[in-house]
Amino acid sequence: MKIKILGIKYLIKKIHKNQLDKGDVAGSVSSFDADILLAEGMPADVEFSTFIHETIHAISTSMDLDLKESQVMGLECGIMSVLMDKENTKVLTDFYTNAKSIK
Ligand SMILES: [Zn+2]
Repeated sequence: MKIKILGIKYLIKKIHKNQLDKGDVAGSVSSFDADILLAEGMPADVEFSTFIHETIHAISTSMDLDLKESQVMGLECGIMSVLMDKENTKVLTDFYTNAKSIK
């Protein structure tokens, strides 16, 4: 599957954990290859969080933000707390639906 980040289509690939580079625990991103690698077998919420983490890395690279790993992890946790809180489901759905309706 593919997802667009800042207009670039990234291929999301699930791979065996041993195929990740040394130091990468659950995922990695290559802006050069436009792919996001996720380790197979993670629970769905961990996989989603890892995807968010790698997306932040992609944005940091593309926008020359030079975020440190601790900043990426902080943003990952903060964004996940907003997206995954069940109390936020309706307001997030409303925001998304309204924003998509603008032409
Ligand atoms: Zn990272």
